[in-house]
Amino acid sequence: MGRCTDGAGGWPPYLRRVPDTSPRDDGQQVAARPLLEARGLERTFGTGATEVRALRSVDLVVAEGEMVAIMGPSGSGKSTLLHILGALDRPDAGSVAVDGRRYDQLSDRELTELRGEVFGFVFQFFNLLPTLTAAENVLLPALVNGERPGKVAGRVDELIGLVGLADRASHLPTELSGGEQQRIAIARALLRDPVLVLADEPTGNLDSASGSAVMGLLRDLVDGGQTVVMVTHDPAAAALADRVVFIRDGSVSGEVAGGDTDRVIDAFRRVESGAPAGGSPAPR
Ligand code: ADP
Ligand code: MG
Repeated sequence: MGRCTDGAGGWPPYLRRVPDTSPRDDGQQVAARPLLEARGLERTFGTGATEVRALRSVDLVVAEGEMVAIMGPSGSGKSTLLHILGALDRPDAGSVAVDGRRYDQLSDRELTELRGEVFGFVFQFFNLLPTLTAAENVLLPALVNGERPGKVAGRVDELIGLVGLADRASHLPTELSGGEQQRIAIARALLRDPVLVLADEPTGNLDSASGSAVMGLLRDLVDGGQTVVMVTHDPAAAALADRVVFIRDGSVSGEVAGGDTDRVIDAFRRVESGAPAGGSPAPR
Protein backbone atom coordinates (compact mmCIF):
# COMPACT_ATOMS: atom_id res chain seq x y z
CA MET A 1 0.00 0.00 0.00
CA GLY A 2 0.94 3.62 0.30
CA ARG A 3 1.04 4.22 -3.44
CA CYS A 4 -1.53 6.99 -3.68
CA THR A 5 -1.10 10.76 -3.95
CA ASP A 6 0.24 12.88 -1.13
CA GLY A 7 -1.73 12.96 2.11
CA ALA A 8 -0.94 11.06 5.27
CA GLY A 9 0.61 7.71 4.60
CA GLY A 10 0.37 8.19 0.84
CA TRP A 11 -3.41 8.24 0.69
CA PRO A 12 -5.48 10.92 -1.05
CA PRO A 13 -5.93 13.86 1.36
CA TYR A 14 -9.73 13.59 1.47
CA LEU A 15 -9.46 10.07 2.93
CA ARG A 16 -9.30 10.95 6.59
CA ARG A 17 -8.52 8.30 9.12
CA VAL A 18 -11.38 7.70 11.51
CA PRO A 19 -10.70 6.88 15.16
CA ASP A 20 -10.85 3.16 15.75
CA THR A 21 -13.10 2.40 18.67
CA SER A 22 -14.27 -1.04 17.64
CA PRO A 23 -13.86 -3.40 20.58
CA ARG A 24 -12.54 -6.88 20.12
CA ASP A 25 -14.08 -9.93 21.69
CA ASP A 26 -11.46 -9.77 24.38
CA GLY A 27 -12.21 -6.07 24.92
CA GLN A 28 -8.93 -4.83 23.45
CA GLN A 29 -8.59 -2.35 20.62
CA VAL A 30 -8.01 -3.87 17.19
CA ALA A 31 -4.27 -3.77 16.58
CA ALA A 32 -4.04 -4.18 12.83
CA ARG A 33 -6.91 -2.85 10.79
CA PRO A 34 -8.27 -4.80 7.86
CA LEU A 35 -7.59 -3.38 4.42
CA LEU A 36 -11.28 -3.09 3.67
CA GLU A 37 -14.08 -2.84 6.17
CA ALA A 38 -17.76 -2.49 5.29
CA ARG A 39 -20.27 -2.21 8.12
CA GLY A 40 -24.06 -2.18 8.08
CA LEU A 41 -24.38 -1.43 4.38
CA GLU A 42 -27.89 -0.63 3.21
CA ARG A 43 -28.89 0.10 -0.37
CA THR A 44 -32.41 0.46 -1.66
CA PHE A 45 -33.41 1.14 -5.26
CA GLY A 46 -36.74 2.73 -6.26
CA THR A 47 -39.66 3.61 -4.01
CA GLY A 48 -43.12 2.29 -3.20
CA ALA A 49 -44.27 -0.70 -5.21
CA THR A 50 -41.00 -0.87 -7.16
CA GLU A 51 -38.74 -0.60 -4.11
CA VAL A 52 -35.91 -3.16 -3.98
CA ARG A 53 -33.77 -3.53 -0.89
CA ALA A 54 -30.60 -4.66 -2.61
CA LEU A 55 -28.42 -4.69 0.53
CA ARG A 56 -29.54 -5.17 4.13
CA SER A 57 -27.09 -4.64 6.94
CA VAL A 58 -24.13 -6.13 5.07
CA ASP A 59 -20.80 -6.44 6.88
CA LEU A 60 -17.67 -7.48 4.99
CA VAL A 61 -14.08 -7.36 6.15
CA VAL A 62 -11.17 -8.11 3.83
CA ALA A 63 -7.57 -8.49 4.99
CA GLU A 64 -4.64 -7.22 2.98
CA GLY A 65 -3.45 -9.88 0.54
CA GLU A 66 -6.65 -11.88 0.85
CA MET A 67 -8.86 -13.14 -1.97
CA VAL A 68 -12.55 -13.15 -1.12
CA ALA A 69 -15.17 -14.61 -3.43
CA ILE A 70 -18.79 -13.49 -3.19
CA MET A 71 -21.46 -15.93 -4.32
CA GLY A 72 -25.23 -15.77 -4.28
CA PRO A 73 -28.28 -16.23 -6.48
CA SER A 74 -28.93 -13.80 -9.33
CA GLY A 75 -30.36 -10.52 -7.97
CA SER A 76 -29.06 -11.12 -4.45
CA GLY A 77 -27.07 -7.86 -4.36
CA LYS A 78 -23.55 -8.99 -5.31
CA SER A 79 -22.91 -6.32 -7.93
CA THR A 80 -24.48 -3.65 -5.73
CA LEU A 81 -22.05 -4.59 -2.98
CA LEU A 82 -19.06 -4.62 -5.32
CA HIS A 83 -20.00 -1.20 -6.70
CA ILE A 84 -20.13 0.28 -3.21
CA LEU A 85 -16.82 -1.33 -2.24
CA GLY A 86 -15.25 0.03 -5.42
CA ALA A 87 -16.56 3.61 -5.00
CA LEU A 88 -18.86 3.31 -8.02
CA ASP A 89 -21.87 3.84 -5.75
CA ARG A 90 -22.65 5.02 -2.23
CA PRO A 91 -24.62 3.15 0.42
CA ASP A 92 -27.81 4.66 1.88
CA ALA A 93 -26.51 3.79 5.33
CA GLY A 94 -23.50 2.06 6.83
CA SER A 95 -19.83 2.70 6.32
CA VAL A 96 -17.06 1.49 4.10
CA ALA A 97 -13.40 2.19 4.80
CA VAL A 98 -10.06 1.35 3.23
CA ASP A 99 -7.22 1.11 5.75
CA GLY A 100 -9.49 2.79 8.30
CA ARG A 101 -10.37 5.68 5.97
CA ARG A 102 -14.05 6.05 5.23
CA TYR A 103 -15.19 6.77 1.71
CA ASP A 104 -18.96 6.24 1.87
CA GLN A 105 -19.66 9.95 2.22
CA LEU A 106 -17.22 11.45 -0.28
CA SER A 107 -18.35 13.85 -2.98
CA ASP A 108 -18.85 12.56 -6.52
CA ARG A 109 -15.56 14.15 -7.57
CA GLU A 110 -13.66 12.52 -4.72
CA LEU A 111 -15.28 9.14 -5.39
CA THR A 112 -14.22 9.36 -9.03
CA GLU A 113 -10.66 10.13 -8.02
CA LEU A 114 -10.62 7.38 -5.42
CA ARG A 115 -11.93 4.86 -7.96
CA GLY A 116 -9.00 5.54 -10.27
CA GLU A 117 -6.37 5.74 -7.56
CA VAL A 118 -7.25 2.95 -5.20
CA PHE A 119 -9.40 0.39 -7.02
CA GLY A 120 -9.02 -1.68 -10.16
CA PHE A 121 -12.14 -3.10 -11.78
CA VAL A 122 -12.57 -6.19 -13.92
CA PHE A 123 -16.00 -6.73 -15.49
CA GLN A 124 -17.78 -9.71 -16.99
CA PHE A 125 -17.78 -8.24 -20.49
CA PHE A 126 -14.17 -6.95 -20.40
CA ASN A 127 -15.21 -3.38 -21.43
CA LEU A 128 -12.22 -2.88 -23.73
CA LEU A 129 -12.44 -0.05 -26.26
CA PRO A 130 -12.77 -1.75 -29.66
CA THR A 131 -10.79 0.83 -31.65
CA LEU A 132 -7.74 0.69 -29.37
CA THR A 133 -5.06 -2.01 -29.38
CA ALA A 134 -4.52 -4.22 -26.36
CA ALA A 135 -1.58 -2.06 -25.24
CA GLU A 136 -3.57 1.15 -25.71
CA ASN A 137 -6.42 -0.29 -23.65
CA VAL A 138 -3.99 -1.07 -20.83
CA LEU A 139 -2.54 2.44 -21.10
CA LEU A 140 -5.93 4.15 -21.01
CA PRO A 141 -6.26 4.70 -17.22
CA ALA A 142 -2.93 6.56 -17.26
CA LEU A 143 -4.04 8.75 -20.17
CA VAL A 144 -7.30 9.53 -18.39
CA ASN A 145 -5.19 10.52 -15.40
CA GLY A 146 -3.22 12.96 -17.56
CA GLU A 147 0.04 11.01 -17.53
CA ARG A 148 2.34 11.05 -20.55
CA PRO A 149 2.23 7.72 -22.44
CA GLY A 150 6.05 7.56 -22.58
CA LYS A 151 6.21 7.60 -18.81
CA VAL A 152 4.14 4.45 -18.37
CA ALA A 153 5.05 2.57 -21.56
CA GLY A 154 7.46 0.32 -19.69
CA ARG A 155 4.82 -0.53 -17.10
CA VAL A 156 2.30 -1.33 -19.87
CA ASP A 157 4.77 -3.75 -21.48
CA GLU A 158 5.49 -5.32 -18.11
CA LEU A 159 1.79 -5.89 -17.37
CA ILE A 160 1.04 -7.29 -20.81
CA GLY A 161 3.93 -9.69 -20.25
CA LEU A 162 2.59 -10.53 -16.80
CA VAL A 163 -0.77 -11.60 -18.27
CA GLY A 164 1.08 -13.62 -20.92
CA LEU A 165 0.12 -11.59 -23.98
CA ALA A 166 3.34 -9.84 -24.99
CA ASP A 167 2.90 -11.10 -28.55
CA ARG A 168 -0.66 -9.68 -28.75
CA ALA A 169 0.05 -6.12 -27.59
CA SER A 170 -0.75 -4.52 -30.93
CA HIS A 171 -3.89 -6.56 -31.60
CA LEU A 172 -7.37 -5.08 -31.49
CA PRO A 173 -9.83 -6.63 -29.01
CA THR A 174 -11.75 -8.29 -31.88
CA GLU A 175 -8.54 -10.13 -32.75
CA LEU A 176 -8.31 -11.62 -29.25
CA SER A 177 -10.21 -14.49 -27.67
CA GLY A 178 -12.50 -13.77 -24.72
CA GLY A 179 -9.94 -15.08 -22.27
CA GLU A 180 -7.22 -12.92 -23.83
CA GLN A 181 -9.48 -9.87 -23.68
CA GLN A 182 -10.12 -10.49 -20.00
CA ARG A 183 -6.41 -10.85 -19.31
CA ILE A 184 -5.87 -7.48 -21.03
CA ALA A 185 -8.67 -6.05 -18.85
CA ILE A 186 -6.84 -7.36 -15.79
CA ALA A 187 -3.61 -5.72 -16.96
CA ARG A 188 -5.56 -2.47 -17.38
CA ALA A 189 -6.99 -2.80 -13.87
CA LEU A 190 -3.45 -3.17 -12.50
CA LEU A 191 -1.90 -0.20 -14.31
CA ARG A 192 -2.34 2.28 -11.46
CA ASP A 193 -1.23 -0.27 -8.89
CA PRO A 194 -4.59 -0.58 -7.11
CA VAL A 195 -4.86 -1.34 -3.43
CA LEU A 196 -7.84 -3.57 -4.20
CA VAL A 197 -8.92 -5.35 -7.38
CA LEU A 198 -12.66 -5.90 -7.71
CA ALA A 199 -13.89 -8.41 -10.26
CA ASP A 200 -17.58 -8.90 -11.12
CA GLU A 201 -18.04 -12.37 -12.65
CA PRO A 202 -14.70 -12.20 -14.48
CA THR A 203 -15.15 -15.70 -15.93
CA GLY A 204 -18.90 -15.39 -16.55
CA ASN A 205 -18.48 -14.93 -20.28
CA LEU A 206 -15.61 -17.38 -20.82
CA ASP A 207 -15.30 -21.06 -21.70
CA SER A 208 -13.92 -23.17 -18.88
CA ALA A 209 -10.33 -23.30 -20.16
CA SER A 210 -10.14 -19.49 -20.55
CA GLY A 211 -11.91 -19.09 -17.23
CA SER A 212 -9.30 -21.25 -15.53
CA ALA A 213 -6.49 -19.19 -17.07
CA VAL A 214 -8.09 -15.96 -15.84
CA MET A 215 -8.64 -17.43 -12.37
CA GLY A 216 -5.06 -18.72 -12.27
CA LEU A 217 -3.86 -15.22 -13.09
CA LEU A 218 -5.98 -13.64 -10.33
CA ARG A 219 -4.75 -16.23 -7.84
CA ASP A 220 -1.12 -15.55 -8.84
CA LEU A 221 -1.69 -11.85 -8.23
CA VAL A 222 -3.02 -12.61 -4.75
CA ASP A 223 -0.09 -14.89 -4.04
CA GLY A 224 2.08 -11.90 -4.98
CA GLY A 225 0.33 -9.75 -2.36
CA GLN A 226 -2.59 -8.24 -4.29
CA THR A 227 -5.97 -8.07 -2.51
CA VAL A 228 -8.94 -9.23 -4.61
CA VAL A 229 -12.70 -9.30 -4.08
CA MET A 230 -14.48 -11.26 -6.80
CA VAL A 231 -18.11 -12.06 -7.52
CA THR A 232 -18.59 -15.41 -9.22
CA HIS A 233 -21.19 -18.03 -10.04
CA ASP A 234 -18.54 -20.67 -10.52
CA PRO A 235 -17.79 -22.81 -7.44
CA ALA A 236 -14.43 -23.89 -8.88
CA ALA A 237 -13.44 -20.24 -9.28
CA ALA A 238 -14.73 -19.39 -5.81
CA ALA A 239 -12.76 -22.28 -4.35
CA LEU A 240 -9.54 -20.57 -5.49
CA ALA A 241 -10.35 -17.74 -3.06
CA ASP A 242 -9.24 -17.80 0.56
CA ARG A 243 -12.80 -17.26 1.70
CA VAL A 244 -16.23 -17.49 0.09
CA VAL A 245 -18.97 -15.18 1.38
CA PHE A 246 -22.59 -16.00 0.48
CA ILE A 247 -25.27 -13.41 -0.09
CA ARG A 248 -28.98 -14.03 -0.27
CA ASP A 249 -31.73 -11.39 -0.60
CA GLY A 250 -29.22 -8.64 0.13
CA SER A 251 -27.89 -10.16 3.35
CA VAL A 252 -24.75 -12.11 4.11
CA SER A 253 -25.97 -15.61 4.85
CA GLY A 254 -22.69 -17.29 5.73
CA GLU A 255 -19.18 -18.02 4.61
CA VAL A 256 -16.83 -20.94 4.11
CA ALA A 257 -13.10 -21.23 3.59
CA GLY A 258 -11.96 -21.62 -0.02
CA GLY A 259 -9.71 -24.39 -1.24
CA ASP A 260 -12.30 -27.09 -1.81
CA THR A 261 -14.79 -26.95 -4.66
CA ASP A 262 -17.15 -29.54 -3.14
CA ARG A 263 -17.39 -27.60 0.12
CA VAL A 264 -18.23 -24.45 -1.85
CA ILE A 265 -20.87 -26.30 -3.92
CA ASP A 266 -22.48 -27.72 -0.76
CA ALA A 267 -22.59 -24.32 0.90
CA PHE A 268 -23.96 -22.64 -2.23
CA ARG A 269 -26.73 -25.25 -2.47
CA ARG A 270 -27.69 -24.56 1.12
CA VAL A 271 -27.82 -20.81 0.46
CA GLU A 272 -29.98 -21.31 -2.63
CA SER A 273 -32.39 -23.42 -0.62
CA GLY A 274 -32.62 -20.71 2.02
CA ALA A 275 -30.54 -22.41 4.71
CA PRO A 276 -27.41 -20.83 6.20
CA ALA A 277 -24.28 -21.49 4.13
CA GLY A 278 -22.52 -23.17 6.98
CA GLY A 279 -22.68 -21.16 10.15
CA SER A 280 -22.96 -17.40 10.50
CA PRO A 281 -20.00 -15.31 9.36
CA ALA A 282 -17.17 -15.21 11.82
CA PRO A 283 -17.11 -11.92 13.74
CA ARG A 284 -14.08 -9.82 12.80
P1 ADP B 1 -26.61 -9.55 -8.45
O1 ADP B 1 -25.36 -8.89 -8.89
O2 ADP B 1 -26.45 -10.39 -7.22
O3 ADP B 1 -27.29 -10.32 -9.54
P2 ADP B 1 -27.57 -6.83 -8.15
O4 ADP B 1 -26.72 -6.26 -7.08
O5 ADP B 1 -27.25 -6.42 -9.54
O6 ADP B 1 -27.64 -8.40 -8.01
O7 ADP B 1 -29.08 -6.40 -7.87
C1 ADP B 1 -29.72 -6.60 -6.63
C2 ADP B 1 -31.16 -6.13 -6.75
O8 ADP B 1 -31.16 -4.71 -6.90
C3 ADP B 1 -31.88 -6.70 -7.94
O9 ADP B 1 -33.24 -6.90 -7.57
C4 ADP B 1 -31.76 -5.60 -8.97
O10 ADP B 1 -32.82 -5.64 -9.88
C5 ADP B 1 -31.79 -4.35 -8.12
N1 ADP B 1 -31.01 -3.26 -8.68
C6 ADP B 1 -29.67 -3.24 -8.86
N2 ADP B 1 -29.28 -2.06 -9.39
C7 ADP B 1 -30.41 -1.32 -9.56
C8 ADP B 1 -30.68 0.00 -10.05
N3 ADP B 1 -29.70 0.81 -10.47
N4 ADP B 1 -31.96 0.41 -10.06
C9 ADP B 1 -32.95 -0.37 -9.62
N5 ADP B 1 -32.77 -1.62 -9.14
C10 ADP B 1 -31.52 -2.09 -9.11
MG1 MG C 1 -24.37 -8.93 -10.74
